[in-house]
Amino acid sequence: LRSPYAGGHLEVIVGPMFSGKSEELIRRVGRAVIARQQVAVFKPALDSRYHISAVASHAGRTLEAQAAADTDAIRQALSGEGSLLSAPPTQVNVVGIDEAQFFGPALIPLALELADRGVRVILAGLDLDFRGEPFGLMPELLARAESVEKLTAICTVCGAPATRSQRLISGQPARWSDPVVLIGAQESYEARCRVHHVVQD
Ligand code: ADP
Repeated sequence: LRSPYAGGHLEVIVGPMFSGKSEELIRRVGRAVIARQQVAVFKPALDSRYHISAVASHAGRTLEAQAAADTDAIRQALSGEGSLLSAPPTQVNVVGIDEAQFFGPALIPLALELADRGVRVILAGLDLDFRGEPFGLMPELLARAESVEKLTAICTVCGAPATRSQRLISGQPARWSDPVVLIGAQESYEARCRVHHVVQD
């Protein structure tokens, strides 16, 4: 069950919404737990500094995670100040982070530092935003990772492999000028292929 990499390294899992990124993160971290590795899992929190939460896949599997407001909150949790980790930070072998696209660029040096210190870092996130444009810090993470897995969903229009996340506002394709993160709107998302991904002018 050893990782193919001798020491620490960075693994990135990307794809559109519903492509199984959370499922794959849960699968990889779950196997590490079976092998008695000490794991710490994080996801972004918009509400509080950090609290115990869970990574949940759309199919319903869950994994205990800490919700972190920003990269500093992850750093703090791992360095022990007010740590909620069950294992002392020095014993953490695997760090998993879901929805990595919502963290700022400061996540990059933290991920690299952890990998340099021997940690297996597994990051999952959207490679593209609703417009089909590279999402925030993800391009640099993809470039710096030892391993990259691009997952696809199923296009809800034609059944082809879906690589894009279609944002719908009140059932209509969102506009290019809409903000990437929209709070409190009547929005929904569907997995779409290149042909059926629509962004209004
Ligand atoms: P992600 O983290 O990439 O958003 P999840 O791991 O949360 O993906 O969810 C993947 C699950 O979503 C699939 O196993 C399937 O049950 C469900 N699902 C819903 N819609 C679709 C779709 N259009 N294509 C593929 N899977 C879908």
